[in-house]
Amino acid sequence: MSSVQIHAYGSPTLRKKAVPIKQFDKRLQEQVDRMLQAMYIANGIGLAAPQMGETRQVVVIDLQMEPNSETVTLDGKLIPLQLVQPLVLINPSFDPLNDILMLGEEGCLSIPNVHGHVNRHLKIFVKYQDIEGTPHELTCEHLLARCIQHEVDHLNGILFVDRISKTERKENAAILKALKARGSPVEYETT
Ligand SMILES: [Zn+2]
Repeated sequence: MSSVQIHAYGSPTLRKKAVPIKQFDKRLQEQVDRMLQAMYIANGIGLAAPQMGETRQVVVIDLQMEPNSETVTLDGKLIPLQLVQPLVLINPSFDPLNDILMLGEEGCLSIPNVHGHVNRHLKIFVKYQDIEGTPHELTCEHLLARCIQHEVDHLNGILFVDRISKTERKENAAILKALKARGSPVEYETT
């Protein structure tokens, strides 16, 4: 059995701005390995370093979906979505590619049992570096675009519950209050 601890809603670490990675070294490789392992143990589709207590600009994503026909554009080439996963994004930033926003349901490993609807850009252009420091450009949409926007928010100290409607915040107020009061990490386990 493996278990992992993720910083929970109320942790000050989740509200800090993450610093850019400048050294693409063994420490970074080890951090990415720990994050990938944690994401799979917790059965999440994305994880940002602050959720594991490291305020550095590192994100891992794996939508863990069945192979399908979805594509992304990576460095100018159209390729199947599953070929870019697991996706490791170092120092990511993005720009929307049009004005279309989509309302979709989100959750977060740091905020268990809370779901809410967030408006995100449908299609985005992402700049990031890989684990060796090589810069890349990625154009994506739908769930991957949503997930990247959620994770980049984490690097800026923003949580999805900051973006849900007042009504949804009210509905989840008791759970959020309890998480904050408990003040301990969320533990996930797998067998
Ligand atoms: Zn999250």
